[in-house]
Amino acid sequence: MSGTSILRCTSCGGYGLSASCSCGGKRLFSHPPKYSPEDKYAEYRRQAKESSN
Ligand SMILES: [Zn+2]
Repeated sequence: MSGTSILRCTSCGGYGLSASCSCGGKRLFSHPPKYSPEDKYAEYRRQAKESSN
């Protein structure tokens, strides 16, 4: 899996590994979600720590 990035088609929104989609559109790197469960917990813990101090 190393070195493999999922690309997302800007035309149909389909995912794939090749830069050219079967629909004729162009695939770009899909950005990771802005918020992940881990980040959410980290934020919560940081706030809790600030509150306790
Ligand atoms: Zn497509």
